[in-house]
Amino acid sequence: MSTETTGAAQAAMPQPRRSVAFIGSECYPFVKTGGLGDVMYALPKALIAQNCDVKVILPRYKCIPQKYQEKMVYRGSFMMDLCADGKSYYVGIMEYVWDGVVYDFIDNDEFFSWGNPYTNLVDDIPKFCYFSKAALAVLNYLDWVPDIIHCHDWQAALVPVFQQAMFQGTPVGGAKSILTIHNLRFQGIYNNETIKYWTNLPDALFDYAVLQQKWVDSNMLKAGLSYASMITTVSSTYAEEIQTPFYGEGLDAHLRFHSRKLRGIVNGIDTTLWDPQTDKLLAANYGTKNAVKQKRANKLALQKALGLDEDPDKMVIGLISRLTDQKGLDLVNAIIPSLIDGNTQVVVLGTGDAIYEDSFRGYENTYKGSVCSNIMYDETRAHMIYAASDAFLVPSLFEPCGLTQLIAMRYGTVPIVRETGGLKDTVEPYNEYENTGNGFTFDRYEWWLLLDAVNRAKTLYFTGRERWDEMVVRDMEKDVSWDKSAVQYRQLYMELKP
Ligand code: ADP
Repeated sequence: MSTETTGAAQAAMPQPRRSVAFIGSECYPFVKTGGLGDVMYALPKALIAQNCDVKVILPRYKCIPQKYQEKMVYRGSFMMDLCADGKSYYVGIMEYVWDGVVYDFIDNDEFFSWGNPYTNLVDDIPKFCYFSKAALAVLNYLDWVPDIIHCHDWQAALVPVFQQAMFQGTPVGGAKSILTIHNLRFQGIYNNETIKYWTNLPDALFDYAVLQQKWVDSNMLKAGLSYASMITTVSSTYAEEIQTPFYGEGLDAHLRFHSRKLRGIVNGIDTTLWDPQTDKLLAANYGTKNAVKQKRANKLALQKALGLDEDPDKMVIGLISRLTDQKGLDLVNAIIPSLIDGNTQVVVLGTGDAIYEDSFRGYENTYKGSVCSNIMYDETRAHMIYAASDAFLVPSLFEPCGLTQLIAMRYGTVPIVRETGGLKDTVEPYNEYENTGNGFTFDRYEWWLLLDAVNRAKTLYFTGRERWDEMVVRDMEKDVSWDKSAVQYRQLYMELKP
């Protein structure tokens, strides 16, 4: 048993106990490029409180910080057949137990020695074919057979396929599988020959119901969706949206076909890690009682650190994001000149496509003192911006769940979001008649609707501060933890009795 829960505490938990193997390509704090890394970290912890025994299986990337590498303990190794020509590969297991969760890192220098988890598809396709099969082989090797194998995104999507095609009759063959879609845009599509070679899966699986994509390519995510016992995605609205052509990324018909096993469970955030009362990275800590005063102190500290005009009466609008077309940055680019009115500042933190990096740099140059573009990945700066901003932009074209609006609310920063995916499910629009809601929203993907939403926010901020401050407190009090979602995942695990 991997958790350190006492007998009495465990007896008080929901029964019976369920064992779950999480399989995915990233996990904070070892390696994180986006929301998937947060979920792989926080959800297992929340599941432990739901009487689940959780093991997380990850690649042992070279880029995992040395302080974690040093703590890993060798648990064994073996050779695994992988390719169509019979080539086999080394699978090492390095284990790290932390906070009740067992992390098993799959070790192989040939696949995981790059500086980044993802490089390009030429390398990533073989890497994750290997990883998906090795994860199952590791569970058998360790003789740790879970009730549920919970796979995440395309990098682990072949797990249910390998399980059905090659692991039947082995211990892990009887487990139920769940595939969670964190972002449907990324599917692991590559030509048939390459995927046939690297998986050695039977020819029968390269048909249209499983791997086949337009008769020349194979689609790893599509195959996983076919074979998983259940499919989940990270909000109810996104679960509906992906069954339509606009959001379906070419898989809408496939998802409609499998819709009976598709469910949306919204993400949460780790409220211990993200806590303005204890966050050591902030200039001033705060709770609901002193948020208004202390957020001003954080704002001044941020303005000073970033070279913005130092004035806590200005409204600071934050944006922390991968800089890609998914995130609605075309709309942001279109409205920045209209936002800068002498009383408003914009702070951007992100990296990504050159077109957005350059445009934000350009705006900083044009509006010195009012716009600051931090083109970098920096956790510390992220914490400072969440705390210091008054409002926070998430105008995404599509957003499976979105974590930044949840973190913003936790820090009393009012989100301005497009009504799509998890943004729609987590941000209740401000209702001026009833004085309810958590943020400002708009529906269609139009720059002038975003501008309208920002202007509504500005109007309340500058002319109805009392109501604004009440919304700040409502946001901080909103439950954005994993608690409710972990209960839903547990229910799902219970439905999938082996
Ligand atoms: P996605 O997974 O699509 O990138 P999410 O909103 O689900 O978006 O998760 C983004 C996570 O990455 C959040 O925790 C956010 O704070 C963090 N993040 C994004 N860009 C940066 C950055 N440049 N520096 C620090 N953290 C970032």
